Amino acid sequence: MTKTIGLTGGIGSGKTTIANHFMAAGIPVYIADDQARKIMQSLEIIADIKKIFGGELFENNILNREKLAAIVFNNPEKLEQLNAIIHPAVKKHFGNWILEHKNAPFIIYEAAILFESDSYKNCDSIITVTAPLESRIQRVVKRDNTTRENVLKRMNTQWDDARRISKSDYVIENINSEIAKSEIKKIIKILRIQ
Ligand code: ATP
Repeated sequence: MTKTIGLTGGIGSGKTTIANHFMAAGIPVYIADDQARKIMQSLEIIADIKKIFGGELFENNILNREKLAAIVFNNPEKLEQLNAIIHPAVKKHFGNWILEHKNAPFIIYEAAILFESDSYKNCDSIITVTAPLESRIQRVVKRDNTTRENVLKRMNTQWDDARRISKSDYVIENINSEIAKSEIKKIIKILRIQ
């Protein structure tokens, strides 16, 4: 059975960047947030979301994700209802995807909320990506053209590094990308023979 290696880290730590390095090294990578975004565009899921949130979140059948995010951000009950639609669909999609990679020594499952969503329980090992808080804030402010306050707000919904690290098998410090890449090489070597 192909091993599933969870890859996570706080906002702006660089998990997608690190996931791309794994991909460049030939390791199959599943970016859970991207897949969930695609799945949310399927007709079946659109119908389910409309049932709970109403049609006003859609323009020409395209979901306004910002409006949806604003609703669930302040409403745990609605968030739970949304997750009950999205999570099983992503799980099914991932189940099919991993079968396509059954000959790979392992695959990377990248998710921002790997721990918060309990998906870590389905992983054989976990890698956490870290970076200094201030760098993370600066990176996201620049990448998303947003404010420091917005980044801090998003950070506050996630676990902190110490908590993530305590449940991880590997930690990649993503400050200098060459050093991070050499850490990735070491981890790949270990995971290939495990
Ligand atoms: P999010 O949780 O918001 O999805 P993330 O953890 O996936 O973020 P990335 O999108 O990979 O983070 O990186 C955040 C930004 O920081 C990107 O613009 C990326 O190019 C930049 N970045 C990543 N690694 C480094 C690094 N070592 N040095 C400088 N900038 C970096």
